Parts: sequence; C-alpha cells; structure tokens
Amino acid sequence: MSANETSVGTRFLLYPQSPNTPGYDKPELVWVSDPQGSILPGPANDRMYVVNPTIHKEPYEYPYLPPYSGPKAPPTEPSPDGHWDHIAPDDPAFLGVHVFGCVARILDVWEGYLGNRVNWHFSDTYERLEIVPMIDWANAQSGYGLLEFGYRTMPDGARDLYALNFDVIAHEIGHSILFSEIGLPRPGLAYGPDFRAYHEGVSDLCSLFGMLHFDTAMDRLLRRGSGNLMALNELNRVAELADERQIRIAGNARKMSEVGEEVHDKSRPFTGAMFDVLVQTYHDLAVDRGLVDLPPGSIPDARDINSDVSHTYAAAFEADYELKHFQLKGALADARDQVAFGLAHSWRRLDSEALTYVDAAFAVCEALQEQGQGNIAETVVECMAWRDIMTPYDMHMVGRGLSRTPAWF
Ligand SMILES: [Zn+2]
Repeated sequence: MSANETSVGTRFLLYPQSPNTPGYDKPELVWVSDPQGSILPGPANDRMYVVNPTIHKEPYEYPYLPPYSGPKAPPTEPSPDGHWDHIAPDDPAFLGVHVFGCVARILDVWEGYLGNRVNWHFSDTYERLEIVPMIDWANAQSGYGLLEFGYRTMPDGARDLYALNFDVIAHEIGHSILFSEIGLPRPGLAYGPDFRAYHEGVSDLCSLFGMLHFDTAMDRLLRRGSGNLMALNELNRVAELADERQIRIAGNARKMSEVGEEVHDKSRPFTGAMFDVLVQTYHDLAVDRGLVDLPPGSIPDARDINSDVSHTYAAAFEADYELKHFQLKGALADARDQVAFGLAHSWRRLDSEALTYVDAAFAVCEALQEQGQGNIAETVVECMAWRDIMTPYDMHMVGRGLSRTPAWF
C-alpha cells in the first residue's frame, strides 16, 4: 500500500473478557488505528514490541529489567496484507498478538478522550514498552518499560491466561496512562494521600470504559437488564452476579466509612461513584430521548431493587425493549463518552504529590463544566456525596457553577 492511500487501520481479534467468561468465548474483530501494514513482525511498532521467551523467565524485578536478552521465538508475522486477525486463538503466537492488540485498542480509546498521544512515563529510559505475554507466574505486572503476564489457576485446575484477559491488560495499561498523564512524585517526595487507591480504581475504570467499546459487551449488558442498568448494578451489589469483572468491581456500594487503607479496598468508593455517574447519565439520556416513558428530569432513586419506584423504572425500560435496543445502545455510548471525557480531562488538573479523592472529584466536575456538561457535574457531586467523598456543601458550589480550586493548584 502506498503512503498516499488512506488506511482504515489494522485488524485484530480481541476477547472483550476472559474467554472463560460465559458469553465471551469468541473473540471480536477490532480495528486499531495503526495504518494497515505499519505494524512490524513481533508484533512491534514505534512504542511497543512483543517478545516470546523460549526458556523459563523470572518476572522482572529491579535490578532485572528489560530488554529481554535470552532465547526467544521468531517474531510473529502479519498477514500478507498487514493485518493480524489471521492468527487463530489456538496458535501459541495468538497470546502476544492479543496483548498487543488490546494495548493498541486501549490507547486508541483513551487518546481519543484525552485529545493527545500518551507518551510513556518511562520514555527517558526506554523508547518502547516490552510486552511478555506468558511467563510461569500467578500474576501480571506493568512496570517501568514492561508489561508481562502469567495466569490464574481456575477451580478445575485449568489456566486462565492473563494475556487473553482484556480487563487485566487494560487495567495495567491504565496505570501506565495515569503515570504518563498525572506524573510521578519528584524523587524523595511522597504520593498524595489517596493517590495509590485512586490509581487502582481509575485503572479499573480505564478497563470498564474500554470494555464498553466492544459490541459484544454493550449488547450483553443491555439485553440482560432490558436496558435498565440500575437493576443490573443493584443485583451485582447484592450478589456480585455480573459476568464482566469490570462491572463486579465498579458496581459496588462501598462508602469511605466502610473501607480501610488497603489500596484495592480504598479504591472502591471512587470507582463505584464514577460507575453510578455513568449509569445515571445513561438513564438521563434515555429519558431525554423519549426511549423510556418516565417523567422528564426526574430520575428516581431506584437503588433499592424492591421499591415501587424501581419496578416502575424497570417496566419503563422493558416496554418494547427489542424495538429500542439500538437507540439505548447509542445512549449508553454517549453516556460512556461524556463521563470518560470528564475523567480523562480531570487528570491534567491533578498532582501526584497532593492527590486527594475530593480534589479528584472536583477535577472531574470542572472538566465536565468546561465541556458544557454541568448537569453531569451535578450528578458527579451527588454520587460522590453518597460515598462520603464530597459533602452537600460541595454540591452547592458545583450547582452554582463554582469550582473549588485546590490549594496546590
Ligand atoms: Zn493495579
């Protein structure tokens, strides 16, 4: 293909969830933005490359760091026309191709929201990210210039390979994106009090919003609840029923008073609040667009799935659901993009050395207000206040279009 021809991108086969998840055993055809033919054997491009060691490799740990210099399999070749969907999932080379495609996909999604290219935070040392898709290790890690994956042993003894798990890959790249966008504290200085928990939670959100770019995931989520995500959310909170790990994590009901200092535990209230914002924004759009017959502007608190109001709500979504599926999917895509945009544009307002949850919540509100999405900013305050991250006083400030500029800003 000549340089003058326009390219619509490069094809990959990606699993939206681990293929061991019910309903997700088939990969989906996805286009990534790299021009057709530009991804070199490996796969490799100008910011990452895959290596497949042929001997046992220990996980990287300082001072053992990339680049990998041991024996390795020959690089995987693209198809003659420059795509990567010709490699079947049962081919050993599929693992590396899958991780590469997932990372490229996540970067496409979040660079689209940010409006800029993500430059690796380790670019002073390493030009490119090294991806090792499979080592004999019950874990996965992203680090300085590296991304490597092991596996989880399932109850039946089979291995659930992290290289096939979009959620794990997206979460790890979420950390890299955050380090690149928010930065690292200066040497010798500490992280802000909520920085590590924020990092864990927002990496989970990077994965959640990434998953919502898969048709398979959008269709399954909507059809399971007949379009009523509030019901799905609430059922998950009671019994962690969601098939998608991202929903199991984000659809939680934890408040700040109920979590400890352990970073994953402490990450739940902020993640849960942002998920509630997504669900509420989607429901608001569905009402505004006349897709569900509910009074305009009044979104009831349907958190209690046994309440009358939640039954009314569920019935409004269920009525003629199949006739509105695609329009509701459009509303969910718009809600996804509006909320993710606010989150992405909050990062440049944050400081890793002073980061607190309340400042992070305000930064999301400010980014949304800047985009003319003041109504979603108010939803953010409501959801953050429910988690004890913001206060009713903060609601008053945001409601009047005021921003609370953090002291360190
Ligand atoms: Zn993490």
